[in-house]
Amino acid sequence: MTSTSTSSATADTATRPTQGAYTLAGVGRAYQQKGRTVQALSRVDLEISSGDMVAIQGPTGGGKSTLLQLLGALDRPSAGTIALGGQLLSQLGDRALGEIRGSQIGFVFQHFNLIPTLTALENVETALVPLRLDAEERRRRASETLASVGLGERGGHLPGELSGGQQQRVAIARAIVKRPAVLLADEPTGNLDEETRDEIMDLLEGLWREQGLTLVIVTHDSAVARRAQRRLHIKQGTVREVS
Ligand code: ADP
Ligand code: MG
Repeated sequence: MTSTSTSSATADTATRPTQGAYTLAGVGRAYQQKGRTVQALSRVDLEISSGDMVAIQGPTGGGKSTLLQLLGALDRPSAGTIALGGQLLSQLGDRALGEIRGSQIGFVFQHFNLIPTLTALENVETALVPLRLDAEERRRRASETLASVGLGERGGHLPGELSGGQQQRVAIARAIVKRPAVLLADEPTGNLDEETRDEIMDLLEGLWREQGLTLVIVTHDSAVARRAQRRLHIKQGTVREVS
């Protein structure tokens, strides 16, 4: 269940079909760098339906991570509007955006970004802190989720004691333990060998299918992108559909 103060168990289920839908209208993002303006994204109009699986490809510097950060409410556009689940993100303050990130959006990164001094189980638990559950419930959910990604026996291990594929599984468990509507992954298989890449993609695709998540994956790897229903290409800040 999500933690927004107004959602009950039934409301949560009832709103699920649209919860993970995005509408971007005229979105731009410019960065100021050494007195120059870098237009990282320009005039992006994009609809993503709830429960879609979308792959984003394109050359380095094209704007992929910028777009993912906007979808993840980690950043704000310098032009245009972004709605998630029918709610205009630009109308929300930092605190409300933080709550949306904490309850509705999971992130997975290329370099796993686990906290090295915490065990696998504790890393997963960190994602539940904003939900203010009691410690026992937090541990129970984290254990269950870790088991669901095939690491039930590894909860006590530190990230450094796990393989790259196992660390990415922990990161995925951390991203989904709060049952988000959206899972955003930036090059999730970029640091893995081909066999492990395929295992991680099987896991992500299985979660997407079972949980009705909106899954957005940035990737350089066409073997990964081919698994998505829909493929987008971003170059010089412009998004186009790949048919
Ligand atoms: P990609 O993920 O496709 O490699 P990015 O979204 O990271 O591309 O970057 C798009 C463009 O925006 C690049 O020209 C990059 O240098 C610039 N950029 C990204 N983040 C920043 C930032 N925080 N400050 C200044 N320029 C940035
Ligand atoms: Mg990037």
